[in-house]
Amino acid sequence: MLRVENLTIGYGKTEVVHNISFHVNQGEVVTILGANGAGKSTILNTIVGLHKAKSGNIIFEDVEISNVRPDQQVSKGIRIVPEGRQIFPQHTVMENLLLGAHIVKDTKKINSRIQSIYERFPRLEERKMQLGGTLSGGEQQMLAIARSLMTEPSFLILDEPSLGLAPIIVNEVFDLLKQISSSGVTVLLVEQMANSALKISNRAYVIETGRFVLDGTGEEIKNNTDVAKAYLGNI
Ligand code: ATP
Repeated sequence: MLRVENLTIGYGKTEVVHNISFHVNQGEVVTILGANGAGKSTILNTIVGLHKAKSGNIIFEDVEISNVRPDQQVSKGIRIVPEGRQIFPQHTVMENLLLGAHIVKDTKKINSRIQSIYERFPRLEERKMQLGGTLSGGEQQMLAIARSLMTEPSFLILDEPSLGLAPIIVNEVFDLLKQISSSGVTVLLVEQMANSALKISNRAYVIETGRFVLDGTGEEIKNNTDVAKAYLGNI
C-alpha cells in the first residue's frame, strides 16, 4: 500500500534520514521503533507532505505522493495523528470531531460518523460537551485518534501514541489501535514503547540516527535480544 524508496531527508544542510526504504502492506500494522532524535517524526511528516525530502520516492497505492499536499493526502485516505495529540483545547469534544471532518461536506455522513465514533469511544460521548483541554491525557489521545477517523482513512499514521501516558492507558490505546486495524485500516506508527508496539505489529523497523539497523516480524525483533537491547533499551 505504501512504498518508501531511498528516502533522504534533512533540515537545511543537515541530513537526518539517510537513504531509507520500507513498505507497508494493506491490512498490516507496521512500527518504526527508535530512540529520541532518530528521525521517526521526520519520516512521518515527510510521508504526509509536511516536509520535503531531499531525494527518494514515496508511493501510495502505486501513485507517487512526495509532492501531494497534506489536505490532498487526506482525500486519498491517508491521515496522521500527530505527536503530542494537538487537539483543540478550547473546543468541546464534539467540535474537535467536527473539525476533524472539515473536508466532508455531507452533514448526514458527518452525523453518522460521529455516532459510530461514540459507539466505539463511549467515554468521548459521555464527555461530548467537555472542553478538549480538560480531558485526561489518555482521553485526549482517544480524541485525537477519533478525530482522525472522521474522514474514514484507509491508512492511519500515528506519531508516538503512548507519549506521556501511564502504562495502563498505553495498553488501552494499543488495544484500540488493534481494533481499528481489525476493522480494515492499515496502520503505520512510530514508537519508543517497544513492548506495547510490538504486541500489535505485524512487522517493525528499528531506526538509529537516521538509518534502519534491523527489520522483521514483531516476534523476530523481540527475540533478537542483543540488537533490541542495544537499540531499544526497554524491550
Ligand atoms: P522523538 O522521538 O524525540 O520525537 P524522532 O525520532 O521523532 O525523535 P525527529 O523529531 O525526526 O526524531 O528528529 C530527527 C533529527 O532531526 C533530530 O536531530 C532533530 O533535532 C532534527 N530536527 C527535527 N526537526 C527539525 C527542524 N525543524 N529543524 C532542524 N532540525 C530538526
